[in-house]
Amino acid sequence: MQSLQLRQRDYLLRISRAMTARLDLPSLLRLILNSAVEMVGAEVGLLVLRQADGRLAQQAIYGLPPARAAQVAAALREGRDLASLGESGRGLSELSLSLLSAAAGIPLRQVVQMPLRSDEELIGAIYAFRSGGAAFGVNERQVLQSFADQAAIAVRNARLYEQISAEKRRLDAIIENSANGVLILSPDRRVLVMNRALAAMTGWPAEEARGEPCWKVLPLENAVGANLCAAADAPLLPRELDPAGLAQAQASYYVEGDLLRPGGSRLTLGVTYTALYDSEGRLLNIIGNVVDITRFREAEQMKSTFISVISHELKTPVALIKGYAGTLRRPDAAWDRATVADSLAVIEEEADRLNALIDNLLDASRIQAGVFKLELGAVDMARLAGKVVERFRRQTERHTFELDFPADLPLVLADEARLRQVLDNLASNAIKYSPQGGPIRIGGWQEGHDVTIYVADQGIGIPDDEQTRLFESFYRVDSGLRRQTKGTGLGLYLCKAIVEAHSGRIWVRSGQGQGATFFFTLPVYADGFN
Ligand code: ADP
Repeated sequence: MQSLQLRQRDYLLRISRAMTARLDLPSLLRLILNSAVEMVGAEVGLLVLRQADGRLAQQAIYGLPPARAAQVAAALREGRDLASLGESGRGLSELSLSLLSAAAGIPLRQVVQMPLRSDEELIGAIYAFRSGGAAFGVNERQVLQSFADQAAIAVRNARLYEQISAEKRRLDAIIENSANGVLILSPDRRVLVMNRALAAMTGWPAEEARGEPCWKVLPLENAVGANLCAAADAPLLPRELDPAGLAQAQASYYVEGDLLRPGGSRLTLGVTYTALYDSEGRLLNIIGNVVDITRFREAEQMKSTFISVISHELKTPVALIKGYAGTLRRPDAAWDRATVADSLAVIEEEADRLNALIDNLLDASRIQAGVFKLELGAVDMARLAGKVVERFRRQTERHTFELDFPADLPLVLADEARLRQVLDNLASNAIKYSPQGGPIRIGGWQEGHDVTIYVADQGIGIPDDEQTRLFESFYRVDSGLRRQTKGTGLGLYLCKAIVEAHSGRIWVRSGQGQGATFFFTLPVYADGFN
């Protein structure tokens, strides 16, 4: 038979091995309890740990079938003196022992209790019960206590590990789900971690990017600022800093630049790099925080375009009005009636244009402020298109107009004045952007509960990549002809807002040099009352 000392050494070895090997707390606790109970030849064992709220709660039970174990756990929860027992080191009271015996289904007559202490603090306790009469001897108690001291260290390590793992999981979740791109680099600027947002920005799947140099993954063009991920030969950050100067060392670097994505589209990114040094001054990681500032840049650009376009658009009619008015007023000239009439006509036309421009600007700001009201009624789109065409026919000789509506097209539920604005805008664009002239057709058809209206021209068309952006405010396609053509880039924005306020959709089908057809849908009138 093994001597007690040998057994003891064996158990202590087991527990120290577990300390290094088992970081999973529940399985470590089972191992500790099993070893302790076997060591003193007990029949039943119990391990409690102090919880965050200070209570001692049972974590592992040895020697009982599961149903009994549950009953013992319940009895313990009721037992008042469990917590105080842990603190004072006294034995269990008679009452608790008999309660536990009843729950366990076997008499528990002898008990030994070993507090688990870490840094002088009670973190839990192990109880071993025997049903026989022999009391636990002093030696057994001592051996168990030194075992418990080892076990306490193992428990503390496993708990720390659990805390750190939970912390890491939390940080991983924050990084992974951050709306900004996050990049963690090794000191030699290879990718260690890249989150979902950055994968979407760069088009690199995170797994493929891992291990790649960051100048491949984040190659910024037109970069302005401190680009830590410039070409391979860009200067590296110092691998080591004098720990004394660590506090003064530059902690972060900012760069802005364009990223060409796989599909050919571009993003403007702002990247803040932060160098992470350990307390000895060694470079551990470089963290990159990547913000997509494309929209912001575009908005800035649009604002400046807006100001130049609007000032140009406002100045032209004002200059014409002032010029004609000044000429008419000249005291030395006597103008004939026809000249006066022509001049006044120009003044009136230009005043109308100014008015329309101001209306458009007001509408645009109403849409942006979210106060855009419709006066709905039954509208005959074929008739409305007819009126629009009549007006435009008088303004151009190069273009011909065709109407293409079936006789039985139902009425639509709409605000007539607003729809007229839409058709005016689309028709005037069709004229503006087909400078060689040609046919312009306005038509429509019914499809279920909707009527689709279209305005088609055979003009210069719109390149594919510009088509989605046309409907943004102040957006104008940049090309020679368009730069010469008057416009504010507000027309299609207003059309879209009006159509969408009617619960409709607007879209374009076109190709460079192939003319353009704008479509929009409106609800059929009767449906409004269903
Ligand atoms: P504007 O005509 O005042 O510039 P819009 O919002 O009406 O503003 O149109 C935005 C841009 O869409 C225009 O600058 C033009 O480049 C393009 N566009 C609109 N309609 C057509 C069309 N029928 N054919 C070609 N390009 C068009």
